[in-house]
Amino acid sequence: MPISVLPISALSDNYVWMLTDEETGCVGVVDPGECAPVRAAIEAQGGRLDVILLTHHHADHIGAAETLRERYGAKIIGAAADAKRLPPLDRAVRAGDEVMLGSSKALVLETPGHTIGHIAYYFNEPPSLFCGDTMFSLGCGRLFEGTPEQMFKSLHAFDALPDETRVYCGHEYTTSNARFALAVDPDNTALKERAEEVSNLRARGLPSLPSTLASERACNPFVRADTPEELGRLRREKDLA
Ligand code: ZN
Ligand code: FE
Repeated sequence: MPISVLPISALSDNYVWMLTDEETGCVGVVDPGECAPVRAAIEAQGGRLDVILLTHHHADHIGAAETLRERYGAKIIGAAADAKRLPPLDRAVRAGDEVMLGSSKALVLETPGHTIGHIAYYFNEPPSLFCGDTMFSLGCGRLFEGTPEQMFKSLHAFDALPDETRVYCGHEYTTSNARFALAVDPDNTALKERAEEVSNLRARGLPSLPSTLASERACNPFVRADTPEELGRLRREKDLA
């Protein structure tokens, strides 16, 4: 049975993704950085929260995790490698581990770069990638701890996933990412079309996410970079932009 996914806007530009396993009704959230909007969404759906999935230790991704656990009895799952900087974990996971949300299963991928302990979660029905601050639509996370080589490898850790994979990122950064992407890749027709689509969605107050891996493969300059050096150069240029 598939999962269904809803965006919850939190803080200034974070998304907390709310997942429901359609067979069992189990509910999960990814990266709850702020309590009030997440509680409102959970209450609106019947007041159930089973699992909290964390991608990395930054406050805008974990801020409400412990409060929500206390309130709903949810289990907190996060990276074993980062257990010291995360809220006390009910389950510490590594690359290749499987995580259940009711009858739906996610695979854990290690994606260092933004932080050293960053992980992502991939559900295959429908193909859905929760990648935190590793990949953004038309961008990638800032290299706070990792190297360009690590980010390059992490973005390519998604290469085996299908084109139709929905990409659920941690932030609504797509508009500014599109500006930068168009500046470095002005002749990319797919990118121009995606930028147009994003500007229409945002003008209507709608999220630009999820994206798809097909779209990122065609449009995202960081995913399209041929080498870690090129990715590092783009990342430095963008930090200064
Ligand atoms: Zn972060
Ligand atoms: Fe973040």
